[in-house]
Formats: sequence, C-alpha cells, structure tokens
Amino acid sequence: MTEQSRGGTPPEAQQVDWHTMTQAEVEQALSTQAKGLSTAEAAQRLTQYGPNRLAVAKKRSAWMRLLMQFHNILLYVMMGSAVITAFLGHWVDTGVLMTAVIINAILGFIQEGKAESALDAIRGMLSPHAIVVRDGRAQEIDAANLVPGDVVQLVSGDRVPADLRLIQVKELRVEEAVLTGESLPVEKGTEAVAADAPLGDRHGMAYSGTVVVFGQATGVVVHTGARTELGKINQMLSGIEHMQTPLLRQVDSFARLLALVILGLSAATFVLGVWLRGHPPSEMFMMVVALAASAIPEGLPAIMTVTLALGVQRMARRHAIVRRLPAVETLGSVTVVCSDKTGTLTRNEMTVQRVVCAGHAFNVGGVGYAPVGDVSIDGRIIDVAHYPALALAVRTGVLCNDARLRVEDDLWRVEGDPTEGALLVLGGKTGFTQEAGELAWPRIDSIPFESEHRFMATYHRDADGAPWIFVKGAPEVVLGMCARQLNHDGEHPLDVDYWRRMATDTAAQGLRLLALACKREAPADERLRFGDVAEGYTLLALVGIIDPPREEAIAAVGECHHAGIRVKMITGDHVETARAIGAQLAIGVGKPAMTGAEVSLISDADLRRVVMEVDVFARASPEHKLRLVQALQDDGQVVAMTGDGVNDAPALKRADVGVAMGMKGTEAAKEASDVVLANDNFATIAAAVREGRVVYDNLKKFILFMLPTNGGEALVVIAAILFELALPLTAAQVLWINLATSSTLGLALAFEPAEQGIMRRRPRPPGEPLLSGFFVWRVLMVSVLMMTGALGLFLWEMQQGSSVETARTMAVNAVVMAEMFYLFNSRFILAPVTSWRGLFGNRYVLWAVGVTVLLQLAFTHTAVMHGIFESTHLTLLEWFKVLGAGLLVFLVAELEKFVIRRTPLASRVAQA
Ligand code: ATP
Repeated sequence: MTEQSRGGTPPEAQQVDWHTMTQAEVEQALSTQAKGLSTAEAAQRLTQYGPNRLAVAKKRSAWMRLLMQFHNILLYVMMGSAVITAFLGHWVDTGVLMTAVIINAILGFIQEGKAESALDAIRGMLSPHAIVVRDGRAQEIDAANLVPGDVVQLVSGDRVPADLRLIQVKELRVEEAVLTGESLPVEKGTEAVAADAPLGDRHGMAYSGTVVVFGQATGVVVHTGARTELGKINQMLSGIEHMQTPLLRQVDSFARLLALVILGLSAATFVLGVWLRGHPPSEMFMMVVALAASAIPEGLPAIMTVTLALGVQRMARRHAIVRRLPAVETLGSVTVVCSDKTGTLTRNEMTVQRVVCAGHAFNVGGVGYAPVGDVSIDGRIIDVAHYPALALAVRTGVLCNDARLRVEDDLWRVEGDPTEGALLVLGGKTGFTQEAGELAWPRIDSIPFESEHRFMATYHRDADGAPWIFVKGAPEVVLGMCARQLNHDGEHPLDVDYWRRMATDTAAQGLRLLALACKREAPADERLRFGDVAEGYTLLALVGIIDPPREEAIAAVGECHHAGIRVKMITGDHVETARAIGAQLAIGVGKPAMTGAEVSLISDADLRRVVMEVDVFARASPEHKLRLVQALQDDGQVVAMTGDGVNDAPALKRADVGVAMGMKGTEAAKEASDVVLANDNFATIAAAVREGRVVYDNLKKFILFMLPTNGGEALVVIAAILFELALPLTAAQVLWINLATSSTLGLALAFEPAEQGIMRRRPRPPGEPLLSGFFVWRVLMVSVLMMTGALGLFLWEMQQGSSVETARTMAVNAVVMAEMFYLFNSRFILAPVTSWRGLFGNRYVLWAVGVTVLLQLAFTHTAVMHGIFESTHLTLLEWFKVLGAGLLVFLVAELEKFVIRRTPLASRVAQA
C-alpha cells in the first residue's frame, strides 16, 4: 500500500486556508510528499475531484440554435409573406415560401454546426500541459488530469495550471493580473502568511491562470477546476472567439444594408405598380416578394463562415492552429515573416562537431544522438584521457546540464534542451556519462539558462568535498567572466583575441557556439546567485555545435520569396553562425547582418530606414524583436513574427500575425499569439500563408458568384415590371431558383483548391476593400448577361407564339443554366477555366451541378412540379436554346478574363 493511500482522503479543500500552512502541514493534509503522488492514487483522486477544467460556458441547445436560424431579416420577410399569401388564398406560394424558409434555416443550422465543430477541435489541440512529479519522476501531463496533492513544477512562461501551495522557489515572479488586475509581477516565496492576507499578498501561493514571468518553482496542488480562485470568479481562460473576422463583419453589414435597400426598393415597386400602373395589389405583392427573395444574398454570411471554417481546418491539418480567426485573413496579406532560427528554420538536432581547447581544435565524429564517434586532431584519433583540459571541459558540459539522454530500442533521445543534449552525447563519446558524473560530483544549486542572460551555471562538490562552479553559455558572456584559461601545462592569463578569433572562425562554419568555464570556489551560504557568476572564472573550451537547416524550411523560404514575402531571421545565436545558416537557407545573402546591440544603438527613424535592408539579426533578444516589428510596421509592412519565450509576448501581440511555437513555446507566448505551430516548423508558416491566400480567394470567388446570380434574377423581375412586360418568372418560380441554386451551387466554391501560382503573386495590399472597381464591374456584367439570356429567351419564345408556361419554364432553366456555367467561370478569378483542371478540378462543383441538373429535370418534366410551379415539358430543341443562354454567360465571362489578362489591369486585379 502506498503512503498516500494510507493517508486517507484529502480534506475537502474548500475550507482550508492553505496560505497559512507550512509545507509539512500542506503535505500532511493532502497526503502527499515531494516525490509526488503515485499514478494509482492520482487516478483515484481524479474520479473523486473531477478533471481540472473550468466549466465551459453552456452551449445553446440544438433546438435553440435551430430556432435562432429564423432570426434573420430575409426569413422574417418570407414568413410574413407566407402569412399574407395564405390570407389571399395563394396556397402554392405559401407552401413554396415556407419550404424555402425551412430549407434556409436547416442549411444555416448545418453550416453553423460545421463551423462550431471546427473550432471545438482546435480548442482541444490547445489544451495546456503541466509538468508533474508522479511515482518520483517528472512527467508532462494534460493539465486537466491534475488532482489535489500533485506536485507540479513551474518554469518561466508557464501558466499556473491549478492553485498551488509553493514548496520550493527560485527567483519566482508571477503575473496575477487575471485575478488581481495588477499587471506588475509579484515576487513569490514559500512562507506562510496571515489568514486575512488578501490574494495579492499570499506569496506562498501560485494561483491557477496566472503566468510565471521569471524563475522556477515547485508547488503542491491544493485546488483544481472550479474550486480554484479563478474558477470561483469563473473567468474564462483564453478561448477562441466566435467565428467573426473583420472581413466577415464587413460582409455581414454589407448584406444587411443590401437587404434593407432591396426591401425599400420592393416597397417602392409595390407602390408604383399598384397606384401608378393599376396592377391588382395581391399580384404586385407576390411580384415584390419574389423580387426581394431573389435579390437578397441570404446565404452570403453563412457560406462565408463555412469557407473560413474549412480554411481553419485545413490549416490545422497542416499543423498551424489558428487561435484568433482574423489571422486567417491577415495571413494572406503578410509581406514579411520574421522567424526564429533554432528549431524553426533548423532541425534542432544538435551535434558537437568541434571543441577548441588548450590550443587544439578537436573534431568530433558521429551523427545524431547516439554516443558513438571519435575525437580527432587533424584526422588523428586521440584518447581524451591524455588531454586533461578537454576532459574537464567535457565534465563541465555534462554537469552544467539539465537535459537527459535516454535510449529506447536502440534509439537515442534527448529530453530537454537539444543544445545541452549535444553536450551529453559528447560526454558519451568520450566515456563520461551523466549518471556517473552526477553521483561523484553532486549538484548543490544552479542558475538555469534563460535567453536573457545566455548562460547557465551549476554548483557542485567533488568526491573530495571541494567546491566547483561550472558555467556554460554564449562566448561573449562567458569570456567576460574569465580572467584565465586552462592549457595543458596549467592556467594562463586569458588570451581574449585568440578566443574571439576562434569563435568567429567556428561560427563562420555555421556552428552554434558555447563557451565552458569553471571556478573552484563556493558561493556564500551554498546558494548560487548572479553575483557568483560575474568574474574570476577560468575558460576551458569553446564548443561548436552543428544544427543543420530543415530541408523543408529551405523550400519554404524559396516559396515565400517567390510570393513576394521577405523572410528575416531573428536569432539569439552568434552573428557569424546566423549568417552562415542564413546563407544555407538563402536568407540575407549578400546583405549586411545586424546584432541586437546595434539595433539598441540606433534611433527608431534609422531603424525604420535600414530594417528592410537587413535580413539577419543575431544576438537579438525579445525587446529587439518588438522594436523590429514596430519598425517594419512603420515601414508599411504586414508582419508575421515567431516567438516562444515569455518575453516574446509583446512582440507576438504587436505583430500583425503572432506565431508561437507549439512544442517549445511557453503558454505565455501561445496566449499572445494568433497562430500556434504544432510542429515548430517554418514550412508550416509558409503553408499557413498559402492557406490564408486560398481562403481569401475563395471568399472573393463566392461573392463574385453570389452577387451577380442574385442580381441577374432580380434584374429579370425589375425589367419586366418597369417595361410592363408579362412576368417572365412567377413568384413561385423565383423562389424555386433560389431554393435550388443559390446556396448549393455557391457552397462548392468553399472547397476550391489553391489556384495555380497562388504563391507567385505579390501579397494583397492590407486594408484594401473587398468590393473593388473590378468586382463591381464583374457583378454588373454578369447580372446583365444573365438577364439578357433569360429575358431575351422569354420574349423571343413569346413572340414565336409559345405558351407563357413554356416561355417561363425556359426562362427559369436559362437562369439556372447560366448560374451553373458561371459557377465554372468563378472557379478562377482571372485564369481561364477551359482546361481539364478548370472544368473537372473541383469535384464539389461537379456534384453541385449534377444535383442542380436533376432538380431542373424534375422541375421541367414531372407532373407534381407542373402542378406547383406551372412549369411544362421542354423539347430537345428548347433545351438547346436554354443551353445557349448558359453558354452565352460562360463564353463572355471567359472572353472578359482573356481581355483583362492582356491589359496592365491584370496584376492589380490579381491582387484585389
Ligand atoms: P533562436 O532565437 O533562433 O531560437 P537561439 O536558440 O540560438 O536562437 P538562445 O536560445 O537565446 O537563442 O541562445 C542564445 C545563445 O545562448 C546561444 O547561441 C548559445 O551560445 C547560448 N545557449 C543556448 N542554449 C544554452 C544553454 N542551454 N546553456 C547555456 N547556454 C546556452
């Protein structure tokens, strides 16, 4: 039986003042200890306390959602009209109107469901994780599985996953704005405080939802889920907002305005028809209902939402998780991508290749993490035992290290920072393992690595009890701490120039640099502080680590360049390393590189001037990222910026598209970002930009399809009223066309794949209106063409002496045929569709057309439909004439594209 289960059930956490208790009291009350719970105990407590999750805002029930679909101007008009037609005794029209209302509502319901489930899936992918000690071993688990009594480790950038009583802290600072509104970070400790201390003063506690901005800590979980302070005030954690983006809002209000204008026009037409032309009110009423129904683009917002949802899903499949939906649109207009180097552009599989030590340059053989490889000088294999300085350097690298090297089924893996993993592998190759080393020279204290200070230090006692402080870090930083160097014949004064030369030489080969140093001294009261790592060190070695570029990143950078997007590398690495890796990726070739220090020195105005000249920024820290984003934006660029650390958050927020790393990124960075890369890979950014462009294209294509098809129908009716012609379409027929085509056909465009050359266009100018001059022209042209085909055919038939039923049936079919043909035109905005890919490239288009053809055959050739819609059979010849009307639209639209492609307008339109 485990100790915990003997301890019995933890007290109902609610009444206990945890902040007043000591560590021992907390551990006793929760029947836990520093090595954590056992897995079995944790599982038992999980069933008892439930998952560590906040209650999600209750969703509307399906019925409610369905009901809400009727809450829409157009449907109100249609339902009102149905009531009036029922009073007038036009039962067929009442039936058609009600069917249209119901089908519209159901379509809206399904579309909304699809959009919501896409978002739900993405919420799941973003679930936070926590490092917990269970069975005596630190492991990463889904934060939802935390239970009271769990021992949790925190590092900077983490979001605190539950309410914790801290039992160990190292310079911990936590930002508690979610709870207290105070944005300045609070220093934390482990002491108990008075029972009446306000939340902000309970220094021994870390509360769920707050963010660690500095340091490390360990704490015992005291409350989870709804019982946490955050749960009590029931504030939702970062969620994904509703399906709305600036573009959708724009279209939504456009559609609403259009609906109102059309309603106004319809009312005017009614008045005109009844009073001036003397038409019977009931007939005029039906006409204007038909007019309104045909002209209002009721499906527009719903289908655009689906297009967006599909885009978000496609991006998620390519490992880009969109946290804020407007980013989908912004991605398509990105002009500059600023990317981290390590792990994003490179593979983050580090191998030590070179060690400069005691006047020699040692080469290290072997690839990957398997500790197999020889050490040589100028091709001659050596025995490390004969080189004590090298042996001490290797020891430093292995002991001043928080990573772990593991082997499973002959596969070597690094847990932790790959840079540190590389040093463990070097240890393995020279016969110095971590386990043996740590046993003989136990670690007493440490200062972990942070990008801000660029070094790590550990304090040990050797087998004789003598003290040692080991440091590893960026050469500039470590050189600044050293006064001496270790050669084979003992210590000498530091030859700074020699080491600088060696650093530049090693970095120029694209190797990442680390310097190793040591000091034989104990820090005051055995605790390592920054003051202990300032001076008096002896430099041992310079290590060169290779981290090759990702193949797919090389291709993706090329793709971005073709797409008119500049790629900039912002890295914490040495300037020469950055330049060499940049060259392999075709970033910044032949251009100057800049360091963070140089960025700090120049004014905002100067930075703005040079920022587009430079593509490689080295030794840069998070504040530099923020200044660079601002400078680029001042220069009119649309910037995507990557980041992973807690201090990257301001730059991520400021960027037009903030991109956080999903794997190595902190919760703080993810929270500040618009997009999270599940695989930390640069190629994913390029893929997301591409998808962003596809989504925007498809939205445009849909609008270009929808507006003229509605417009065409409306024009037919308006022309008939204006010129006092016999009505070419009855009200019921107009409603049928709407029912059969408007949403179904257009929906196929949401599935449109990327157009060829989508990544060879320049980025879309930001903030450019959707309805450009070209759009208005295209909408008008196609509306008029559709009207010409349908009305022309109707009038001609009437003149030939056909019955009004036949002429109307032909007019209905002509409108639908024109819409089907125009659907093919709409697949590409400017490119011709007269190719195999153009005609058959989207199976959804073929399906939509197939279904519509069947519906039209039923409309024309079944007795039921004849009864309802007053339609009649058509002969083969008449069908050919209908086909002609469709072809007219198709051919003229293709001709228009052909002409535009040949004018200078083309490049502007392609971007519009
Ligand atoms: P990027 O911003 O592209 O991810 P990076 O990973 O090289 O760049 P940092 O992690 O900030 O940036 O590293 C900066 C420098 O700090 C490295 O060049 C290296 O010299 C040193 N360094 C990196 N990792 C460690 C570590 N674990 N311990 C000590 N020093 C390190």
